[in-house]
Amino acid sequence: MSDSAALHASETARVEPQAHVEVQGITRVYPPVAGNPAVHALGPLDLTLRQGEFFSVVGPSGCGKSTLLDVVAGLAAPSEGTVRFEGKPVAGQVPEGIGVVFQEDASFPWLTVYDNVAFGLRRQGVNRGDLAARVDYAVEFMGLKDFARAYPAQLSGGMRQRVCIARTLVLKPRLLLLDEPFGALDQQTRLLMGDEVLRLWRETGATIMLITHALDEAAMLSDRVGVMSSRPGRFIEVLETGWPRERDSRIVSEEAFGRITSRLWSLLREESLAAIGGRGAKA
Ligand code: ADP
Ligand code: MG
Repeated sequence: MSDSAALHASETARVEPQAHVEVQGITRVYPPVAGNPAVHALGPLDLTLRQGEFFSVVGPSGCGKSTLLDVVAGLAAPSEGTVRFEGKPVAGQVPEGIGVVFQEDASFPWLTVYDNVAFGLRRQGVNRGDLAARVDYAVEFMGLKDFARAYPAQLSGGMRQRVCIARTLVLKPRLLLLDEPFGALDQQTRLLMGDEVLRLWRETGATIMLITHALDEAAMLSDRVGVMSSRPGRFIEVLETGWPRERDSRIVSEEAFGRITSRLWSLLREESLAAIGGRGAKA
């Protein structure tokens, strides 16, 4: 490559990628219920997710992370502010193109792995040939081929979570929202599931927003990590990791990984202490 071509390449890489999700000035206040006061759970906050990026959100327990995800997904309405996905306002329902995976194992125990994954496509009325091809692909992609006829009760927790991811993946989401999807898994399984999600992210080109309480997970998986304050949650810092797109769990042994996790922890320590009202908490 000539010098000028190299220069051009780096300039092209610096152009801001297109905004995929634009969150502006959102808050969410849960109204008073049964004598309990209203809870200001979130915001006001702004967030722009770039097309195809991997963005993680970390923050103290109860700071409004799940509330943020619900609002971005269209599962809950913001009290103020707006969310736009691919330029269109998100309101009232989950738009086509957004897939959500939750922490709880949400697989249907009475359906086989295959039928769990096929569920959404059947509801959409996808024809049998297409359905079989797409389900086979998603089942194989998530390493569940040998278990297609098994029921969730016959699988490990990590495999059940793979079923939930396959069920969402089969719908070809362009934005994947993950709310602590590996929270119930042991450390090794969590890191390996992280590799699966990175592979899925690269191969589908989807934009991902991952909510996690695990700083190592956020540091390893993300292009950017948004650190939230204690409730009402706002972003106190958004950190760029600088990882190449081709990455996997082996980066946990890199020096930069240590720097990123310790930066995340120093930001979160104060906020977490404040959230539990502990020593050293902010006034
Ligand atoms: P996180 O996911 O960061 O742990 P959440 O978004 O689940 O936090 O909750 C943020 C705050 O909003 C918490 O204080 C929680 O108790 C409150 N909250 C969440 N859901 C409701 C609800 N349906 N009604 C009232 N308060 C709620
Ligand atoms: Mg939560």
